Amino acid sequence: MRLHLDNFTKRFDGNPVIEGMNFVVEDGEMLALLGPSGCGKSTTLFAIAGIYRADGGRILFGDRDVTNLPSQRRNVGVVFQNYALYPHMSVEENIGFPLTVGRIRRDKAEVARAVREIAELIHIEELLARKPAQLSGGQQQRVALARALVRRPGILLLDEPLANLDARLRLEMRSEIRRIQLETGITAILVTHDQVEAMSMCDRVAIMERGRILQIGPPTELYRAPVNRFVAGFLGNPP
Ligand code: ADP
Ligand code: MG
Repeated sequence: MRLHLDNFTKRFDGNPVIEGMNFVVEDGEMLALLGPSGCGKSTTLFAIAGIYRADGGRILFGDRDVTNLPSQRRNVGVVFQNYALYPHMSVEENIGFPLTVGRIRRDKAEVARAVREIAELIHIEELLARKPAQLSGGQQQRVALARALVRRPGILLLDEPLANLDARLRLEMRSEIRRIQLETGITAILVTHDQVEAMSMCDRVAIMERGRILQIGPPTELYRAPVNRFVAGFLGNPP
């Protein structure tokens, strides 16, 4: 599903954190929001998810204006930085949980089928009976991803999904997340402060500084023609 942020603005206690931000993510595209800590990446993501209310502008999913819709009605899947799995539930219950709340509830057999399908896609079929505490960091992240995708959302939002993994797993999960995004054809936004991650995983990258997008484009274009010294310095040289 196509996503359009139109003059989006967000303030905390009257202080603008995001001022008049504009961008489009095309259907099936994966965009990175890349920038230093505190520049407003998570705020933007949470506003798209409906967790934060916008203070100005519009958020459109396809032709639909979702600016004033609550989170549950936005058809988005979110993976949070700390995964936020429910510790008392099994992996199967964690993944199926979004199907058991809200307006449209599925019966047990439907939930079990949907969980199995998504577990196969993400290669975690053998983990379904475990509790989150019995999983490695990489496995927990796969479960969080499965839970975000189980309702087959139109948009997948990933907030620093690799930040808590060691270097080897981070490399593995980079290509896994991209594989899953391409296989499902889902529109996705990856929030990260890691330039190599953004440039290697995404179709386009938006470089942010203090609540604004400085430049947005495909990785090759950003490396070839950075708009200013901040962008050039932040990106460094191509890997
Ligand atoms: P990033 O994800 O890029 O590190 P954030 O979007 O989390 O940045 O934060 C952007 C700015 O907004 C920061 O200055 C942060 O302190 C502020 N901020 C974020 N969330 C809140 C909140 N719930 N209340 C007040 N200020 C916030
Ligand atoms: Mg953040």
